Amino acid sequence: MNPLADANAPLLPGTAVDGQAMTLGVMGGGQLGRMFVHAAQAMGYATAVLDPDPASPAGLVSHHHIQTGYTDATGLAQLAACCAAITTEFENVPADALRSLAAQRRVAPGAAAVAIAQDRALEKAHFVRCGVACAPYAEINTPEQLAQVADDLLPGILKTARMGYDGKGQVRVQDRAALAAAWTALGKVPCVLEKMLPLALECSVIVARGADGAMVNFPVQRNLHREGILAVTEVFEGNLPAALAAQAVAGARAVAQELDYVGVLCVEFFVLADGRLVVNEIAPRPHNSGHYTQNACDVSQFDLQVRTLAGLPLTQPRQHSPATMLNLLGDLWGQRGADSVPDSVPDWAAVLALPGTHLHLYGKQEARAGRKMGHLNVTGATPEQVRATALRAAEILGIAAF
Ligand code: ATP
Ligand code: MG
Repeated sequence: MNPLADANAPLLPGTAVDGQAMTLGVMGGGQLGRMFVHAAQAMGYATAVLDPDPASPAGLVSHHHIQTGYTDATGLAQLAACCAAITTEFENVPADALRSLAAQRRVAPGAAAVAIAQDRALEKAHFVRCGVACAPYAEINTPEQLAQVADDLLPGILKTARMGYDGKGQVRVQDRAALAAAWTALGKVPCVLEKMLPLALECSVIVARGADGAMVNFPVQRNLHREGILAVTEVFEGNLPAALAAQAVAGARAVAQELDYVGVLCVEFFVLADGRLVVNEIAPRPHNSGHYTQNACDVSQFDLQVRTLAGLPLTQPRQHSPATMLNLLGDLWGQRGADSVPDSVPDWAAVLALPGTHLHLYGKQEARAGRKMGHLNVTGATPEQVRATALRAAEILGIAAF
């Protein structure tokens, strides 16, 4: 049987198709693609990455690296030709590119779901459809919509509808004058104004859903952001009140179900000062807040990305150790000269001398401020032990205490 002819047949590792190794592909060569490639290779698949950057983190470790733009017809044809199935590692991959790949190959997640995740206005409309509460908001596409914004949405955060990440494309606005100025500064592109909410904490849930509708989820992750970028994730029994955690899991599953989603999906939430849970946004791929799963769970979010793409069975992940993840941003590297090469690197040896530390670096040469260079997972027997080790690692690395 040719598994490519049957849309639901499992794509088993090693199976030869036309004499070729079973190959899984990914659009995008960043760190998420790299960790997908590692997981796929561990299971015996060959891999292909499409990314224009010759030094992309995933391209460096993949069997095949197609170095073209994401809409390049030749590159897309090459990717389709060598892969049995293709996924994505960043949400801004052009939905049209996914559509053209899907005409030839199994693609997960699908273009329709990715298109919703790419656009904050569509995303919020989806939350409303699912009955999952989100922040009060207004779409701002025209000067008329700007003028009609309800007073109640201020102070707020103006966010570009598309292409934002790590807090980019966002301006905090106190009043109407600041709102108008911010919209002009953002180039009057389609935006969403969200009411500024009093956050008690932030959390996220990662679900994986197969083409057959089977769905599993990881435990709720508690996340600390600094300057719009995820800094720390803590996951252990009791990291959130149980009722809130259950509500977050139910909300995330509803969002995935309603999208008829196939693949790994992260749903980010806010917990407000009054205890209410509000959905923030979704990412149609594994997520930074799920990196702890590599060392603290019996299957990782990247393993599940491989399984959902290949049509393999999903099993409910089990967290076997409490965990803390510290993001390692470029700021931790020493002063850089004109060549952008850091002249000092963090003291990994001191960090790795601590029990239960797992270092993950993405192979990026240039350590710019705010750039995600890697992460450190800390596991241990108890939450207290993990926290103490993670705080000590943070101190060694120069990361502020949490
Ligand atoms: P990501 O890297 O997660 O894709 P992003 O650029 O899409 O980030 P958001 O998740 O929308 O940005 O916002 C970044 C952070 O800003 C949030 O994690 C939260 O700390 C804060 N924030 C965003 N929206 C609000 C809001 N309505 N009220 C209060 N704080 C907010
Ligand atoms: Mg976010």
